[in-house]
Amino acid sequence: MTLNSLTRASPLTEWRGTEKDVEASNRRVAPLSLRPTCTPRARMTLSKTLRTHLIVSVLLLALISAATDAKADRWAVHEQRGQLELFSEFPVSVDTIERELAGVAAELNDRLQLKGTGQVVQVVIFNSLQSYRDYLAGKIPEARSRRAIFYQRGEQFQIYTFRNRELITDLRHEYTHALLHQSLPYVPLWIDEGLAEFFEERPADREKSSRLSSMRWKCRTGWKPSLESLEKIPSAASMNGDNYRDSWAYVHYLLMESDRTQNEFKEFLQAISAGAAPGRFSEWSSRRETEVVNRIGSYFRRIQFSLR
Ligand SMILES: [Zn+2]
Repeated sequence: MTLNSLTRASPLTEWRGTEKDVEASNRRVAPLSLRPTCTPRARMTLSKTLRTHLIVSVLLLALISAATDAKADRWAVHEQRGQLELFSEFPVSVDTIERELAGVAAELNDRLQLKGTGQVVQVVIFNSLQSYRDYLAGKIPEARSRRAIFYQRGEQFQIYTFRNRELITDLRHEYTHALLHQSLPYVPLWIDEGLAEFFEERPADREKSSRLSSMRWKCRTGWKPSLESLEKIPSAASMNGDNYRDSWAYVHYLLMESDRTQNEFKEFLQAISAGAAPGRFSEWSSRRETEVVNRIGSYFRRIQFSLR
């Protein structure tokens, strides 16, 4: 089945996108001017990173039936393996991508019992920024300044990106969004982005993450990220780089501090999954008198680089 035939089936009425600024990862292309609603992510690593992650919901009246995908031979790779349906304009290792995304799925399940639904996630990788832009131009204008996009329309889950040095990181990030939105009736914004930021790094790379040392340094002053502030952010378009950093920090803390914090997080997500409308995590946790939220500052001050 081609992407074209799938996406021509009906008009897009809604999409949820998470995007990455193309600027940092593909330095061979001309710098892009960010749209006003794009908020650059803070510099999380020393070597890269002006990237934008954003979730946007917009109405789209156009079909995704780009004339450019009419060529039957467009895809050098088109292969389905289980839940993953991969399209690529250039040869890629399907084994590698499958393994990376399976790793994300396994960890999300192991830690939080979020399994997704098994519905197919289409991953579309273009050969260049220009090809990616051409394909999505007019359909998803927000893609112009972003490196990767996840969108959902009903039962359809798709990820678009293009060849760049952080391709695997981007795919891990966007795939996390796809699984979360399959698993839960709604996903609080800080959890959505925090988990995607957390899982975009392979487990072996997390201990040396520069954002870990950055957060540790900041918390030494007595500062701690404000969950209540994150919970009040009305939309992804309103998130700035610090908000992404702090969302990552809360997720990291909850998953890594102890079994107790991870279980608390898991129970909250399971309550959402069950349709229990648990409200905001800060309030839910406070009602349980676990004081989980209050300990994040001391966690990052104490943290030793020997993560689970
Ligand atoms: Zn994201």
